[in-house]
Amino acid sequence: MAHTFERAPTSRAKCRGCDGKIEKDTVRFGERLPNPYGEGEMTLWFHPPCAAHKRPEPFLEALPDSEFPVDAADALEQIARTGLACRRLPRLNGAERSPTARARCRSCRELIAKDTWRVALVFFEEGRFEASGYIHAGCVTEYFETPDVVERVRHFSEMSDADAADLTAAIAAPPSSP
Ligand SMILES: [Zn+2]
Ligand SMILES: [Zn+2]
Repeated sequence: MAHTFERAPTSRAKCRGCDGKIEKDTVRFGERLPNPYGEGEMTLWFHPPCAAHKRPEPFLEALPDSEFPVDAADALEQIARTGLACRRLPRLNGAERSPTARARCRSCRELIAKDTWRVALVFFEEGRFEASGYIHAGCVTEYFETPDVVERVRHFSEMSDADAADLTAAIAAPPSSP
């Protein structure tokens, strides 16, 4: 079966993109995949904005055929298209100030200093998102092929406008030397 949009019949499904609840009667996106554990297919449910950010290809496949109105469809289409153009962007899973100095950056391999910004990554494999480490804010532009990621970060990590401005500045700064 093809990927689909539908109205959630219950509020029991969780969004694979953000782990949040998908409210009953809201439009949800279903990605169909072969079941890796057996026969048939499985469906991964998402809030439409979370699918546009993290699963742009199936989202764009299904969007023109949606029988249900998708809120802000044009803006979501643009988010998904940017995610296809910059192939690593769908891995972005928010950002935080590093609570330790133990993580190594997946881009430059250097340690990420405590209390500096780090951007979280997830890789999608066999129907699951696996937490896959972090990169320095200063390595964002090289890794994602664009510095323009803060709105994406804010979709997955709640932060104040002051923190968003601070993160923007950290992305614009050159990568920290060890
Ligand atoms: Zn979601
Ligand atoms: Zn780095």
